Amino acid sequence: MIRIKKIQLGNSLNALTRVKLLIMLDKLKDEEEKEANGSTGKYLLPEVLEMLIINFHKKCYICENIDSTSYEIEHFHSKLIVGMKYNWNNLLLSCAHCNSTKKRKPIISIINCTDFTDPDPITELKFDYMPIPRKKVEVTTLSSNPKTLETVLLLNRVFTGGTSTQKEEARALADLIRSEIRKLLNALEEYYEAIGTTEEAHFRSRVLVIMSSNRPFTGIKYSYLKGQDILSDFEADLDFL
Ligand SMILES: [Zn+2]
Repeated sequence: MIRIKKIQLGNSLNALTRVKLLIMLDKLKDEEEKEANGSTGKYLLPEVLEMLIINFHKKCYICENIDSTSYEIEHFHSKLIVGMKYNWNNLLLSCAHCNSTKKRKPIISIINCTDFTDPDPITELKFDYMPIPRKKVEVTTLSSNPKTLETVLLLNRVFTGGTSTQKEEARALADLIRSEIRKLLNALEEYYEAIGTTEEAHFRSRVLVIMSSNRPFTGIKYSYLKGQDILSDFEADLDFL
């Protein structure tokens, strides 16, 4: 999990994104009015999903996997709360696995990665990726903030799985994480071998691309490097800090 700035009209946006955002906000407003007038409104609109996919770099905000087959629109605060069902600020992009894990045992209040007054997941959460004997991710924290503790609880459920289907999904997730960590380690090896050569800058930018916020499992990769000297070589250029 990393912080994601929610796209807003007030932000500097390119013309196309601005138009798409305006259309989407209008549609959400129409649906809200429909419901206020006694009809059934819909928040699950293609325009909303498209804007969330752009906003969240195609990633589930909880596990940070890119899984185009299972995108879901999640209401951070329950859609039953007045004003929350059609509120753009309350809509986040999650995958089916995380959404079902979150619903199974209701979580009181996790970190909202789009609310920058909440604790910053990148400094609060520690992801330990263990490749052997079983590929596994374990999430811990040194913080006693209730939101952080709830987030740790949820993420450990996400990476372990509850039901047999969820356990299978968690194993698939661990495979993807391993593959991303391997890509990162290979890129790092190539970079350190290229230091002092004409290829140094090229390999450095490859590492930065793999570590960037629009790639899967950014938080896990950051945590993986956190205890090592390597991180200080790249930290100043990471796009999510
Ligand atoms: Zn997810």
